[in-house]
Amino acid sequence: MRLKIVTPSRVVFDEEVEAIRATAVDGEFGVLPNHIPMVTPLNIGVLQFTPTGGAERTAAVMGGLFRTDGKTASILSDAAELDSEIDATRAKHAMERAEARVREKNADVDLKRAEMAMARAITRLKLSKLR
Ligand code: ATP
Repeated sequence: MRLKIVTPSRVVFDEEVEAIRATAVDGEFGVLPNHIPMVTPLNIGVLQFTPTGGAERTAAVMGGLFRTDGKTASILSDAAELDSEIDATRAKHAMERAEARVREKNADVDLKRAEMAMARAITRLKLSKLR
């Protein structure tokens, strides 16, 4: 089946795959060709997929929407990077900034926003370590 990962700025991935594993807001799920049609909101997390005839790949997906009709699958997200594209140093700095904001407990700090930034950084760091 064809997997297309799209963000507002680019097409991150658009190739045939044999299997997909993603994290929805209510937990992990797997999709094989001919899966029943569905749409589900994604969590910030790791996406695993197996290009046809190739080895498993991973990508960091910052939430968004997953859709499949059984023959194609698409992910529309604010941001996504293939494992090979992740800048680990940048993610480490983003993590440190977010941690400092969460620790501050300052009334002016939007805690939810800081926690989301931390979740994005954790996902990116996880993938950059696996690489
Ligand atoms: P930062 O504070 O470093 O910008 P962020 O979590 O706020 O991190 P996002 O808003 O999720 O960044 O992403 C903004 C853009 O930068 C997106 O295009 C995303 O793919 C890219 N990006 C963010 N962090 C990284 C990273 N560590 N490696 C590669 N690309 C990244």
